[in-house]
Amino acid sequence: MSTWEHNKVGCILLEKNQAQPFKKGDKRTQKPAWDTDKCTKCALCYLYCPDAAIREKADGLFEADPDYCKGCGICARECWFGAISMVEER
Ligand code: SF4
Ligand code: SF4
Repeated sequence: MSTWEHNKVGCILLEKNQAQPFKKGDKRTQKPAWDTDKCTKCALCYLYCPDAAIREKADGLFEADPDYCKGCGICARECWFGAISMVEER
């Protein structure tokens, strides 16, 4: 009898850094823009980004890596302080 233990692993990256070649930024139509005056450095945007595309800068503020941000807008939606707006990609 075949059980779940016999299924082959699929679509799972088991080693770290294996997703790095899959850059999604070139498909983006919008990108996040930060209003640094409103940012409280709570890091919710960093935690919620599904692509781990947000990084902390030396001053404690955050920015999106253009290579990996796909423009989904989740960071803007989750920021309680309205510090992120989605703007058109140019
Ligand atoms: S969620 Fe908003 S307030 Fe919090 S760190 Fe991100 S931009 Fe700043
Ligand atoms: S728009 Fe989406 S992919 Fe880009 S930084 Fe925000 S949450 Fe991450």
